[in-house]
Amino acid sequence: AIELKNVTKKFKDHEVLKGINGVVEEGQVLSIIGPSGSGKSTLLRAMNQLSGPTSGEVIFEGQDLTKASKSDMAHLGEKIGMVFQSFNLFPNHTVLENVTLGPRRVKKLSTEQANQEAMEYLKQVGMADKANAYPNSLSGGQKQRVAIARALAMKPKVLFFDEPTSALDPENVGEVLKVIQKLADEQLTMVIVTHEMNFAKKVSDKIWFMADGQIVEENDPESLFNAPKEEKTKHFIEQVL
Ligand code: ATP
Ligand code: MG
Repeated sequence: AIELKNVTKKFKDHEVLKGINGVVEEGQVLSIIGPSGSGKSTLLRAMNQLSGPTSGEVIFEGQDLTKASKSDMAHLGEKIGMVFQSFNLFPNHTVLENVTLGPRRVKKLSTEQANQEAMEYLKQVGMADKANAYPNSLSGGQKQRVAIARALAMKPKVLFFDEPTSALDPENVGEVLKVIQKLADEQLTMVIVTHEMNFAKKVSDKIWFMADGQIVEENDPESLFNAPKEEKTKHFIEQVL
């Protein structure tokens, strides 16, 4: 589980996260929805310490990540995977190399072992046949599936997604959502920031609706989408559905 206790984030005088409290349970999928600028990406980055909070605690595997030493964090950080909107694949490496780089460098796997495991993950996302291709020859959906395989190859305990389908052409969205749905079925713990409301409704155990740096409402998908309690949630859902 990951627990957030009163997490705040300030950029100069601008308080972007205003005291976030919540828990992501093991094996569950949490989706974070909300208007642009509400702090969703900032919260993800604060949770995985890409850009740690200004105050508050992020407790993962019993440790407060905000107080972890550099060496502890290197170790814990491996267990938190991240998939970005913009894929961030290494353009001068093949698909296979993109997936094996982390396991070889960080986990010190032999090339042979890393390649073998990488092929399994590439199979899992339907990209094994492109192992020797370079990223710029792939569609957006294919790149994102490779990015997911790359994250999985580190064997994360939890995987974060920041709008994984926002940069894709509509015809490529489905294939990526399918892969994420499969991971949910296998009970990988995931936190997904998304604008795909129908997907969020289907895949999530729990939804946070964020606005203006706060969790306005937390609920299971049915309740949040069909019977929102807060005015702000109602308004947002009317706009996006
Ligand atoms: P979107 O749906 O558009 O991705 P978001 O909910 O992810 O929006 P954030 O990117 O978290 O929103 O941004 C929240 C607020 O924090 C915005 O007002 C943004 O301008 C501000 N912000 C984010 N990163 C920084 C930064 N590095 N420096 C200063 N302000 C920032
Ligand atoms: Mg964002």
